[in-house]
Amino acid sequence: MSTQTLPAEDRLTREIVSYDPATGAEIGRAPLAVSDEVKAAVSRARAAQPTWASRSFRERGRVVLKARELLLAEREEIALLVSRETGKPVAEALSMEIVPTLDTMHYFAHASENLLRPQKIDIGQYGLMGRSSSIVFRPLGVIGIISPWNFPLATPADEVVMALMAGNAVVLKPSELTPLICLKLGELFRRAGLPAGLLEIVTGDGSTGAALVDARVDKIMFTGSVATGKRVATAAAKYLTPVVLELGGKDPMIVLADADLANAARGAVWGAFANSGQACASVERCYVAEGIAPQFIERIVQETRTLKQGRGSDAAVDVGAMSNERQLQIVSDHVNDAVERGAQVLTGGRRGTNAVGLFFEPTVLTNVTHDMLIMREETFGPVLPVMTFKTEAEAIRLANDSVYGLTASVWTKNIARGKRIAAQIEAGTVMVNEVVYTHGIAQTPWGGVKESGYGRTHGRLGLLELVHPQHIHVNRISFLPDLWWFSYSPKAAKLFQGLAANFTTGSIFKTLRLLPQMAKRLYRLLQ
Ligand code: NAD
Repeated sequence: MSTQTLPAEDRLTREIVSYDPATGAEIGRAPLAVSDEVKAAVSRARAAQPTWASRSFRERGRVVLKARELLLAEREEIALLVSRETGKPVAEALSMEIVPTLDTMHYFAHASENLLRPQKIDIGQYGLMGRSSSIVFRPLGVIGIISPWNFPLATPADEVVMALMAGNAVVLKPSELTPLICLKLGELFRRAGLPAGLLEIVTGDGSTGAALVDARVDKIMFTGSVATGKRVATAAAKYLTPVVLELGGKDPMIVLADADLANAARGAVWGAFANSGQACASVERCYVAEGIAPQFIERIVQETRTLKQGRGSDAAVDVGAMSNERQLQIVSDHVNDAVERGAQVLTGGRRGTNAVGLFFEPTVLTNVTHDMLIMREETFGPVLPVMTFKTEAEAIRLANDSVYGLTASVWTKNIARGKRIAAQIEAGTVMVNEVVYTHGIAQTPWGGVKESGYGRTHGRLGLLELVHPQHIHVNRISFLPDLWWFSYSPKAAKLFQGLAANFTTGSIFKTLRLLPQMAKRLYRLLQ
């Protein structure tokens, strides 16, 4: 289960160090697994998987529920570790990581059997010929999971649970910035009685991730940036390894004139600043109807100014540190670019005053345009740029003017109008009067369109990514040849013409017209 131990002489150079971004203090270290170690982990997973797949859903569920029990019992300590490794408030580690993970564990431990029940397929008139078809969902084998740092527990844990429940083994490569929380996840499953080899955790950096893609697993579940996602898809193509890509976003929020103003403003502020804006589904662009813009903007500025920023371990803190210097620099560059091009900073706009930690003040910008980086590229930080629109059509056009398509939201009291607009937005999920949180619903699919990636996690669609649908076709009339078998003749061709004109209409009555020809051909085939 644990990462292979490195040779003693290599330990110092081949380790990754985990830091608390709020203080810069080292929290711990983890091995940097190299290619051979990754391959060995995949071999162990492959050896362990068939026995696991032969276990019933109930037995697999029992292990997941035991791990859930341990997570629940140790939630405070684990939330603190998540907070320390990422900088996010403990409250967010609980509400946005531990609660959804517990929910996912509960749901898939109980529902997977039903979700993966074999399905009969209606094969129309072939059924009258004694044939039947069904789909049986088989595990894929070994699933490689590569995960980012922004939700270091929930993102990999959800996928681990789904993969295990589907009968697979997992090799998990967590982000180099947050290795400790995934090692903890591995420990929970080990203590829950998961047999060795079924959850291998290989800590390391991008080179470890690349080694996992190269280790010929049966599917890669990748969550991360668009740039890395493209590299992973390219590398996976070498072995035609299928990939699910959960990539970045530039998620729009459309606030219509009839929206509940107070709630929409609070939703915008939470959607933009929760997790310090480091959620793939964060509100990164806000479009508000011109008529209500002054009141709406005033409210979001007021709300933003009340937010308390500081160390995530402080229970009264709303917005924590950012997770790494590179990301903070991107945020700073986007804000500077916007300001240079005429954006107005209504609040925030600079690095936090804490000299050590990686803080960026929650920032509200107006006078922004789609020429600015802040409206085009993923910022992944606590910035809420607001633009106005005159018409519904303009709002939809602006929302769709992006290479990304992960989530979007529409705010209106008119639900029918909200749904009508949702249907015109290019995004994997569109919420009406909600933001961000549906990743936390175990039953609903998660994933994007355009450069936000392809494939799904969560819900039945997510579970189906982790199995292969095997088609079983049976002909119960085992003594008769098929009409279309050898040998061919002018009469056979005439029958096939008749099949083309009649059988393919799906009408049994039309097909019955061919009965005499069919009987004669069968007779001939049996001679
Ligand atoms: P990243 O792409 O830098 O890294 C993601 C993971 O890939 C890490 O574990 C990293 O070590 C690994 N990696 C790096 N190079 C690799 C390579 N060549 N081959 C294989 N693996 C490699 O992303 P990040 O900075 O850790 O995470 C932030 C990004 O993740 C943002 O763009 C965010 O939008 C996205 N994200 C998307 C979702 C979603 O569900 N769509 C969820 C969370 C985060």
